[in-house]
Amino acid sequence: MELTKKSIRSLKGYKTNNIQCRIKLDANEGKNILLEDDLVIDKGFSFNLYPDNEAAALREEISRFTGIKTSNILPGNGSSEMIELVIKTYADKNDVILSFTPTFSMYSIFSQVYAAKFVSIKCNENFSVDIKALTAKAQEINPKVIFLCNPNNPTGYLIDKSEILYLLDNTDSIVVIDEAYIEFGGDSIVNEISEYKNLIVLRTMSKAFGLASLRLGYMVSNDKIINLISKVKAPYTLNAVTQYIGVRALKNADRVTAYIDEVKQQREYLFNELIKENIKAYKSSCNFVFFYLKINDLLKKLQDHGILIRGFSGDLKDYYRVSVGYDWENKKFIESLKEIIKNENCRD
Ligand SMILES: *Cc1c(COP(=O)(O)O)cnc(C)c1O
Repeated sequence: MELTKKSIRSLKGYKTNNIQCRIKLDANEGKNILLEDDLVIDKGFSFNLYPDNEAAALREEISRFTGIKTSNILPGNGSSEMIELVIKTYADKNDVILSFTPTFSMYSIFSQVYAAKFVSIKCNENFSVDIKALTAKAQEINPKVIFLCNPNNPTGYLIDKSEILYLLDNTDSIVVIDEAYIEFGGDSIVNEISEYKNLIVLRTMSKAFGLASLRLGYMVSNDKIINLISKVKAPYTLNAVTQYIGVRALKNADRVTAYIDEVKQQREYLFNELIKENIKAYKSSCNFVFFYLKINDLLKKLQDHGILIRGFSGDLKDYYRVSVGYDWENKKFIESLKEIIKNENCRD
């Protein structure tokens, strides 16, 4: 007897990368700017007790930094937990989840896990998106949930706030705006949560705040949705150490402004250097640059230079995503890429 449930028999799980490289530009992890390297947990920390399930202190800090009311914030074990929670809360078997492709793969992975039907509209050829087409599709197929990653991973494309408002004004589906990279460019939609009964915004501490190891993300929505999703969420998923360190980190949250400026400058550098090499690179509102380059085994060749970036397959074969790293890392990446291209040309 086949015991595995039907929906996940063909599931391709999210692949994490365990390759060790000196220069790691594959996962968009920001740099740690908020915590001292020698941070220690206070003596007397109660490891034996369950964490505060309300994460009250952490919510306070997030609220202080973002200006969002604590009752509209639900923190969790990375925004990945929040993506799963939304689907878990709203999608029954065969319900439809709508998004664009390419986008963050966890929307379709969790859809499949919950036996929901993931439907996607292709991005335009230049990876911009057609919100009118998405809205029309939503009116046609009535999805339970619409996911928009804004700005988008892996393309870096930013949807204008007015277009998201257009979608919200023309659908009753739950609209999830995943703002994992919003700090790097664009207007957040977060202040609209009370205006709409169906808007959820997801944020993370993994990118601009440079704390991917902590596993800390949060959902922002109206009271009704936050209360509903809180009931679905397993207790204590946000561990006490993460809450404690998260609070400490957020006390220094003002530091992100300077860091973001630096990332934007370096992003511009990477983009311009790629363009100079006649590589098709895409304007990005994130902490990475997406580009197209046809070179056999490019990932392997870069790894020989000690550099790890992200490659794709299927429709995105020969597309790559390079995270914005430190100044010296970005320079080394560009130098190595130039050398690889030169060697290719010699061989032709
Ligand atoms: C990195 C990323 C996340 C995951 O964030 P965590 O809080 O680390 O789980 C969510 N959405 C997008 C689009 C991302 O790129």
